[in-house]
Amino acid sequence: MFSLEQLVRPNIWKLAPYSSARDEYSGHEAHVFLDANENPYNAPYNRYPDPLQRELKSVLKKVKGVPEDMIFLGNGSDEAIDLAYRVFCNPGVDNVVAIAPSYGMYKVCADINDIEYRTVLLDEHYQFSADKLLAACDAHTKIIWLCSPNNPTGNSLDRDEMLKVVNQFQGIVIIDEAYIDFAQQLSMRQELPTHPNLIILQTMSKAWGSAAIRLGMAFASKDIIAIYNKVKYPYNVNQLTQQQALTALSDPFEVDKWVRILLDERTRLMQAFTELPIVQEVFPTDANFFLARMTDAQAIYDYLVNEGIIVRNRTRVQLCQNCLRITIGSLSENNELIGALRKY
Ligand SMILES: *Cc1c(COP(=O)(O)O)cnc(C)c1O
Repeated sequence: MFSLEQLVRPNIWKLAPYSSARDEYSGHEAHVFLDANENPYNAPYNRYPDPLQRELKSVLKKVKGVPEDMIFLGNGSDEAIDLAYRVFCNPGVDNVVAIAPSYGMYKVCADINDIEYRTVLLDEHYQFSADKLLAACDAHTKIIWLCSPNNPTGNSLDRDEMLKVVNQFQGIVIIDEAYIDFAQQLSMRQELPTHPNLIILQTMSKAWGSAAIRLGMAFASKDIIAIYNKVKYPYNVNQLTQQQALTALSDPFEVDKWVRILLDERTRLMQAFTELPIVQEVFPTDANFFLARMTDAQAIYDYLVNEGIIVRNRTRVQLCQNCLRITIGSLSENNELIGALRKY
């Protein structure tokens, strides 16, 4: 039986959260606000933002099909990643298990929180085995990290294997879907009602074109979200971010258009790569980037930097020897990259 209380750190389970002025008062008729020591001048920046981002969540509910009380919003997905450690993992005692290679922040946040980070290497197709991940767990494993589509490999993870992990693991499974808007594979959001141990991360930073505003989302059971809300800084998502996110969300067709263009450009760029003699392998991808194995990644990376073109050198990452990770840019940016590589 799944018991959230047994997974959450005892101090967090017992925590009495900070109660802000806006938490204590949340009626609608008031028009004189002398409760939060705000400055009456300099509107609209003088007021504290809504700590629970209610308006934004009501829009996200429609866009994502997830009820408000199953949504956490943070200062990028990175906040939701860090909070997972702070909520579930006792420093110096607990551990987490993750696929490797994957997104670097899982390990950085583990190190910051003094949590052992165990990795299980992907296979040569960058896929994983549920049994191997589960075998790496012990009684102190609180979280399993999955990332699909995965960064830096680009591929989506096998859905049935992911479900097997969610079904069999007694702790929390976090699936990072930062790139899901580019993927053929469907989001795992629909699995939330039947899987109380599942947390899904998404972000405004990629397909939504809003990396600058720092808005990440976590979808999970309302019990998990309530604990996240208790632990987060009271005003973790600032007013400008909330406003700009509402603007972006008001035009989802624009995002669809960007995604279509980027996927077409991805096809074109990957095709051009396969024809380059300095490219040994182009890996399948479900994201807005792809991984390519080069003859000499470091030298080609340095050459591109000299040309003013920056890609991500992943050659020192496990299973990514001599690999560059290429983000799909605009048509002219992609052309510049191909042109430079043809001259190499
Ligand atoms: C880019 C990325 C994110 C986004 O992080 P934000 O803090 O929301 O910008 C999250 N996870 C992965 C795997 C990413 O590649």
